Amino acid sequence: MAEICFSDRMRERLTLSFEVFPPKTEKGMQNLPSVIDELKEFLPDYISCTYGAGGSNTGPNREVLRIIAKKTVPCTHFTCIGVTKDQVREQLQSYLDEGVEHVLALRGDYPRGWTGTGGEFDHATDLIAYIRKEFGDRFEIAVAAAPGGHVDCVSEDVDISYLKMKQDLGADYIITQLCYDLEQFKVWRDKVDKAGITMPIDVGIMPVTTKHGILTQCFSHNACAVPRDLALVLTHHWFQKDPDGNEIPEVKAAFREEGLTYSADLLNRYLPLGINGIHLYALNRAADVREVLIRSGFGDRFRALL
Ligand code: FAD
Repeated sequence: MAEICFSDRMRERLTLSFEVFPPKTEKGMQNLPSVIDELKEFLPDYISCTYGAGGSNTGPNREVLRIIAKKTVPCTHFTCIGVTKDQVREQLQSYLDEGVEHVLALRGDYPRGWTGTGGEFDHATDLIAYIRKEFGDRFEIAVAAAPGGHVDCVSEDVDISYLKMKQDLGADYIITQLCYDLEQFKVWRDKVDKAGITMPIDVGIMPVTTKHGILTQCFSHNACAVPRDLALVLTHHWFQKDPDGNEIPEVKAAFREEGLTYSADLLNRYLPLGINGIHLYALNRAADVREVLIRSGFGDRFRALL
């Protein structure tokens, strides 16, 4: 059994966690330990590391997990993209050998032009079943869920039925996809409760820092509702280039400034909704996370919970 069980902990108190990704450059990798050090100051329960399509960044993912493990508990993301059952077993065993006992089991986003996973598993459900069959309860398993429904889902209700299946197959807790619309979150949360899903919910929050990031994440990668207050942040600082096409740094800075205050407020608006954890998509930018935690006051309130 995993030494630390976050799902149990989440039932006792709110958790705080961060998500980082394997840097693409050597310089980024060299810089990562100091990023993790800065994140560590907020005493997170765990830090997770993303996993690239088809295992394209397996080496760097491992390296990042080793860096995290020196400071706090690591959790790896793992996908079904392009992997056979044997590869899944080998890779997960080597995570265990390196002390990584927490996994976010995902289908993964299809690489551009693909119409399937290209592997032996089609869905996260297949991966969860396989992990439990091969490894028993040696891993604690987190799963993804999108309030309002996954971008490709048939309907929100059907999507929730697959979430229930994840629970029945042995998943331990949920980390949510971006959701800036709290009314949508509440409706989804009610349906999740009614479906008999009791897994704790770790709410994923991506700090609002760039126009491109928000547009891509909300509209291109996910079908994510943009409520009026977020739309205002976008429109206040929409024109970020001068007539010659040059970027205007002041407008980008003003966007980040308003976005960070919006994000801090969003975090505080989530807290009364009976959630079990806050999972900040840190995107390797500790300064953004710091701002959100300080502006919301949650950084200090969280320390007081421990
Ligand atoms: P699934 O649960 O398989 O769902 C995908 C779709 O299939 C949904 O529409 C669902 O309704 C449907 N479905 C589910 N189960 C079944 C079934 N058994 N039969 C038929 N239909 C089914 N992607 C990466 O590539 N790397 C990462 O590191 C990564 N990290 C992420 C971290 C978080 C917190 C989140 C929320 C997402 C992350 N993703 C990552 C993105 C994720 O891989 C995508 O959202 C992907 O499109 C779906 O993954 P899933 O695990 O929800 O898939």
